Amino acid sequence: MADIEQRMETDGDVYKTLLESTRAIPWKIDWTTMGFAYIGPQIEGLLGWEPSSWASVQDWADRMHPEDRAWAVDFCVAQSKAGVDHEADYRALCKNGDYVWIRDVVHVVRNADGSVDSLIGFMFDISERKRTEQKLIDMQKELEELSYKDGLTGVANRRRFDAIMDTEWNNARRNRQPLSLVMLDIDYFKQYNDHYGHLEGDLCLKRVAHVLGAAATRARDFVARFGGEEFVLVLPETDERAALKVAERCRELMALEQIPHARSGIGPVLTVSLGVGTTIPSDGDEPLPFIEAVDRRLYQAKQQGRNRMVAEN
Ligand code: GH3
Ligand code: MG
Ligand code: MG
Repeated sequence: MADIEQRMETDGDVYKTLLESTRAIPWKIDWTTMGFAYIGPQIEGLLGWEPSSWASVQDWADRMHPEDRAWAVDFCVAQSKAGVDHEADYRALCKNGDYVWIRDVVHVVRNADGSVDSLIGFMFDISERKRTEQKLIDMQKELEELSYKDGLTGVANRRRFDAIMDTEWNNARRNRQPLSLVMLDIDYFKQYNDHYGHLEGDLCLKRVAHVLGAAATRARDFVARFGGEEFVLVLPETDERAALKVAERCRELMALEQIPHARSGIGPVLTVSLGVGTTIPSDGDEPLPFIEAVDRRLYQAKQQGRNRMVAEN
């Protein structure tokens, strides 16, 4: 008899040693008193609160980030009442005011009659995992932004233009508002590259993109690099007169920029040609024919001598 008692005590010691030497923090709450029957001494190393300071579930709830408290407590209480094992992630308050992300894994212990006897669980420190998760989310956001940005000029790329054009097309159709488009192409840019070199050509494209950004002043105006040395401005809720003004402003600002172009067929500085169009889309209309019509006007501006805009066919 004494032997068995001795062995049980030894087993108990083994379990206790095991429980208190893991990185996970074990705990037990009596369901009737809602008080801690036990919490592993490791809790002090992680959060700074000594084990004896964990008396009731209120202490547990109080030491939780205010943003996590309501749902975490509600969720754990509801699951426990239903007798369902569960886990919850929340930020636990440290004695020094910091927060640590915890995953609490909870097992509901039942009496023979099915009623809840107690809760036992483990708290895991998941701060590192949460930091990695956040880093991944940030990187994903950055990648998404990059995938919509033209690498050279920093303005939106063609893919983004397609998406915005679709959105604004639908807005304009729904609200019966005019939508305008300005397409712009640098004159004699091949000669610019040939004369100044491709790297200077790149810098020139950046300057043009910057100028166009300044020409489009309203919050929803949108500038994109359509391709090579061609740019496009999407102007929502903008009628023909206002669109012509924006296009003219592009030409004026470009002229003010005074980018030397020794091999231009026009004059000593870089110029651009523009096509302008405005539409109120009807049901069933698609953006592509409209974009093509504006592109044809740009082509006409080239045909008619460049350094000008064309707004009608
Ligand atoms: P036009 O007046 O009729 O528009 O003639 P253009 O010479 O401007 O037009 P063309 O289409 O013949 O040539 C466009 C040039 O733009 C050729 C191409 O090398 C250059 N280009 C396209 N993308 C880039 C780029 O990213 N960087 C540089 N430096 N040049 C580019
Ligand atoms: Mg060109
Ligand atoms: Mg071109």
